[in-house]
Amino acid sequence: MKLRTRTILSMVLTVLLPIGLALAAYFTVSRTKADVGNTTQGQLYFSNTVDTLASYTDEDVKMLEGWSRTFPDNFLNKDIQRQTNEKLARKNSYLVVRVGTKIVYDGAAKGMHPDYSSLPMYGKLVNGDVLIIKLQTESGILKEINFGKEDGKRGQAFVITPAGSVVPGGEWVILYYIVWLIVIMLITGFIISMLLYRSTIKKVRQMQAATEDIREGNLETRIDVRGKDELSELAQSLERMRARLLADATQKLADEDSNRKFLSSITHDLKTPLTSIIGYSEGILDGIAADPERQRKYIRTIHSKAVDMNELLNELSEFSKLDLHEIPYHFEKINVNDYFDEFAEVTEEELSSDDADFSYKNTLDADTMMICDPAQIKRVLHNLVSNALKYCRVDERLQLKFTVSDAGDFIQASLEDNGKGISPDDLPHVFERLFRADKARNTGIRGSGIGLSIVKKIIEDHGGQIWVTSRLNEGSTFYFLLKKVSPDEETTDISD
Ligand code: ADP
Repeated sequence: MKLRTRTILSMVLTVLLPIGLALAAYFTVSRTKADVGNTTQGQLYFSNTVDTLASYTDEDVKMLEGWSRTFPDNFLNKDIQRQTNEKLARKNSYLVVRVGTKIVYDGAAKGMHPDYSSLPMYGKLVNGDVLIIKLQTESGILKEINFGKEDGKRGQAFVITPAGSVVPGGEWVILYYIVWLIVIMLITGFIISMLLYRSTIKKVRQMQAATEDIREGNLETRIDVRGKDELSELAQSLERMRARLLADATQKLADEDSNRKFLSSITHDLKTPLTSIIGYSEGILDGIAADPERQRKYIRTIHSKAVDMNELLNELSEFSKLDLHEIPYHFEKINVNDYFDEFAEVTEEELSSDDADFSYKNTLDADTMMICDPAQIKRVLHNLVSNALKYCRVDERLQLKFTVSDAGDFIQASLEDNGKGISPDDLPHVFERLFRADKARNTGIRGSGIGLSIVKKIIEDHGGQIWVTSRLNEGSTFYFLLKKVSPDEETTDISD
């Protein structure tokens, strides 16, 4: 969950949870029975209002109203007065009867008597009205039933429900709710902080441990944090950084290893002709080559070895220049067909004198364009052709097939020969610096083992790829890809 979503959610929770809890508290509190002593009146709750309290005696009041119309004398009957009062007492209420200004019955318990002077005058209240009056020690709710006596005197029956002991004082209610609110807010705050803390702390700890590991140089331990929130994304970036650092470190080790091997092969490749040069020159100096014919043979060998060394050093210097970007590329947008057609024409011409067959097939659209350094790509092609010539079979006429075709965003060129082929063991190494198949070393074919590594470097600097397939004693095919551009695409100068 995103940190933003989580913050919004916690905000909503901060608002909703207290509301929910407050509602729950409200219902709990409001459904809590009030302490009403030993009376067995109906349900009295803290949430009772004056109306609720008043409604408890509704039925009794209705009955008394019935009497006022049919048996008004019931109000003056001592037994009925007592029975009615007992009935009302079960609802925490009592009966008071007044005739004229004289109180004829007062069923109030001790301390609950009404202040008689505050009783309403006859006719002031209509049936159904509810009046709050002062009792001796508290307030009470009063309902009035009027009745007429046979002698014409007016009578009033009052049903009074003391209210003070049931409805708590307003300040207490407020205090009660404030305490609950504080408890609820503490609970909400605690829950939300715990949720936020628990969801973030684990990731923070993981990242802390990971950065410690990286600082110590231990790049092997994965940082495994899943999720889509910002912290997880940070951890995932950290993981990508760790993976990158590990890859770089591994690459560095591989490069160091390759440099060591390169140094050792270069030493060997320079030492071998140098040993011959020293040997043959000492032979001349020591007079071993006494006759002029032998001396000439020794000098020819010295010269040939020196030429080999010179060739190797030239190619090495070429490679290092390319590697250090000292040879700038001059990229141009050119028509592929024009370029390869011309190459095929020249090569066919050259190979005809070498006793070799050359065929050329191009299936590209006429207006296919590519961006390349024409001189460097020519160098690639010449190198591949000269290798095909060098590594051809003595008993077989060289057949060289040059094919150019479309490969989506790329142009694929391939050069197939029917030469000696490359063994499966040597095949993965032919593009390495100074690599020469053992066969090539031992057959006396001149070479430095640098050519194909230069070819690979040039193709890769063009954003392309190069690879080879081969079968020993059947031939090899070198493939390379070069990026295509649409004819109307702008040419950007990407020269180094
Ligand atoms: P060099 O030709 O100077 O030895 P390269 O880098 O051009 O160096 O080639 C590396 C090795 O790949 C060669 O020594 C040879 O063993 C092998 N090779 C390259 N091209 C061919 C080919 N067309 N047929 C057979 N083997 C080849």
